[in-house]
Amino acid sequence: MNEFDLIKTFFNSSQLNFSSEFVDVSIGDDCAVLDVPADQELCISADTLIENVHFPAGANAYDVGTRSLCVTLSDLAAMGAKPIGFTLAISLPKQIKEDSEWLKSFSDGLAFIAQKYDCPLIGGDTTKSSILTITIQVHGITPKGKSLKRSGAQVGDLVCVSSSCERALGDGAGALPLVLDEPTLNTGLAKSFWQPLPQIELGMLLIGKATSCLDVSDGLVQDLNHICSASQVSMELDMKKIPLSEELLNLYSKEEALNYALAGGDDYHLAFTVKDVSSMPTNVITIGRVVEKSEEGVILPNYQGPNLTGFSHF
Ligand code: ADP
Ligand code: MG
Repeated sequence: MNEFDLIKTFFNSSQLNFSSEFVDVSIGDDCAVLDVPADQELCISADTLIENVHFPAGANAYDVGTRSLCVTLSDLAAMGAKPIGFTLAISLPKQIKEDSEWLKSFSDGLAFIAQKYDCPLIGGDTTKSSILTITIQVHGITPKGKSLKRSGAQVGDLVCVSSSCERALGDGAGALPLVLDEPTLNTGLAKSFWQPLPQIELGMLLIGKATSCLDVSDGLVQDLNHICSASQVSMELDMKKIPLSEELLNLYSKEEALNYALAGGDDYHLAFTVKDVSSMPTNVITIGRVVEKSEEGVILPNYQGPNLTGFSHF
C-alpha cells in the first residue's frame, strides 16, 4: 500500500476525520484550517510517543492509539480548553507499514478517544522509520484570556486534585511495571496506563475558578513544584488526604502506593488551586493549602518515605 492509500484507508476515515463546527478544511489539503470563534483563543500542545521509550514494544495497537491521544489531550484539560482537532505525525517501521491489522487497530483506538472527546483528526504526516514514533498535536479553545495557567496560585488557596473511586493518584505509575512485564495487559490497573482519563470536562469547568492548574504527568510533588515556582508560593500537603485507588492498594503496600502517588508519573489527573471548593464536582479532593514561599516548594509534613524525585526524560 502506498502512502496515500494508507492515509486514506486508516486516517482519513469518517471515524477519525468527522465534521466539526471549528474545522473548515481537514485532511487532503496542505493545511487544516480552523475557525476559532472571535471571543476564543487557540491552545496548542504536542506530545511524542516512541516505542520502547514511552510504551513497550508488543503492545496492542489499539492501546497505543488510545494512550497517544489521551496523554496529549490531558494538556488541553490542564489549560481548561475544549478540544477542536488534532494532527498525527507517524513514523512507521516497514513491518507495521505492511500490517493492515495493526494500522486498523491503532486507528480504531485513536477514533474511540477522538469521538469520546469530540476531537477529529485534521491532518498529519506519514513517514518511514526504524522506530515506531507517534507525534500528536492537539488544538483546543478557551475564552480569551481565561486559560488556566501555572502562575496564579495565591497564599490561602486550597490545593486540589481530581480523582475518582476507580482512578486515583499513583495508578499510572503503579500500572507501569505490570505493562512492562506484559505489554498486552489492558485490564484492571493496566487500563489506567493505556487509557488515562484526560480531565477535559473538569478543566473547562475550572475556568474562572482555579487560580492555577496543570496535569500530573511527571509525579504530583514535582508537578506541584512547577506551580510553586511559577506562582512564587509554597504548598503544604496533608498526606492523609492523598487519594489512592483500591486497585493500587490491592497490589501494593500503603507506602509503595503513596510513593507512586507522590512521585510516579503518568496519572494525567489535574492538580490545581482554588479559593473555595463549595462548587466543585465530587471527584475533586482537597489535599493541601498554598502558603508563603519558603525554600521548599511542596512541603510534606511528617513525610518519612524515600526521596521524591519525580520523572525526568534526561
Ligand atoms: P504534503 O506533502 O503537502 O505535506 P502529505 O502528502 O504529507 O502532504 O499529506 C497529504 C494529506 O494527508 C495532508 O492533508 C496531510 O495533512 C494528511 N496526512 C498525512 N499523514 C497523515 C496522518 N498520519 N494522519 C492524518 N492526516 C495525514
Ligand atoms: Mg503540501
